[in-house]
Amino acid sequence: MATATTFDVGKMRVHILDDGVFVTDAGNLFGGSRKASIKGAMHPILVEAGDDLVLIDAGFGPELPGILVGRYELRRDENLLDHLGEAGYDAGDVTHVVLSHLDADHVGWALNPPSFPNATVYVQEAALDEARQMPEKDGRRAAVPDVEKGVEEGWCELLDADGEILPGVRVEVRAGHSAGHQIVWLEDGDDLALYTADLAPAKIWLNPDLIAGVDTDPEAARKNRIEVLSEAESRGAPVILYHEPGDFLVKVKSTEKGFEAVPIED
Ligand SMILES: [Zn+2]
Repeated sequence: MATATTFDVGKMRVHILDDGVFVTDAGNLFGGSRKASIKGAMHPILVEAGDDLVLIDAGFGPELPGILVGRYELRRDENLLDHLGEAGYDAGDVTHVVLSHLDADHVGWALNPPSFPNATVYVQEAALDEARQMPEKDGRRAAVPDVEKGVEEGWCELLDADGEILPGVRVEVRAGHSAGHQIVWLEDGDDLALYTADLAPAKIWLNPDLIAGVDTDPEAARKNRIEVLSEAESRGAPVILYHEPGDFLVKVKSTEKGFEAVPIED
C-alpha cells in the first residue's frame, strides 16, 4: 500500500491519508451488470492550517457498513486513524471535518461512530435533504440519523452555499454525483490544490463523458467536471483523487476526449 503523501500549499501542510481499498462489481459503480470487479482506494485529506487540523472526508469507518456487505469488500491492514497517528496526530486533534457528500465511503469515521471529539463536521444541507429522499437501503439514507444527531448535539454544522471553512480552505458546491456535493480548494497566496471528491474521484473519471451509475444527476456532474478540471488545469493546481489506487496526486491536462492525468514535477 502507498503510504501517506505530504506536500505544502503555502503555509498549509497537506497529508494524503488512507482508509484501505474496496473491491466491488463494476456494475455497482457504472450501472448495468458488468462482471468485472473494480478497486477503489479511499484517501481522506488532512490539512494543517495554523492551529487547526482539517480532515476532508472520512473513509468507511471501523468496518464495512452493514448495508454494503455482500456488494463491497473492504481490504486494509491499517485504517484512517492509524494513518492519522503516523502523521503525528490523534483523533482529538482534528478541529474540522468536511464531508463532500453522504456516501458511506466518505463519512464513516466522522459519523458512525463520531470519532473526532473536538471537531465540527460540515455537511451541505442539500446533501442531507437528498439523502432523506433516498431508498431505505441506500448508504446515503443511512447517514441521515447520524447527521441529524450531530446537528442536535452541536457538532455538525449544515452549510447552504460555497464558503470558507477556514482561511485558505474553501468549499464549493459542485453537484451531480449527489445533490450538495462539495469539493475543496486549498489556497494560500499563489499556491493551490484541489480535492475533487466524487466529481472526479479517480483517473478514469477525468473523462467528462463517463456516466457513472452512481451520479444522481449525470448531466450536472459532466458540466461541473469540465468546469472544475478546466480551472485546475488553467491554474496549475495539483488534484487529489480520493478513490485512485495508483497516482492519487496529479495535475490535469485537457485532451481531445476530456482530460488526462499528468505526473507532478518537483
Ligand atoms: Zn466515493
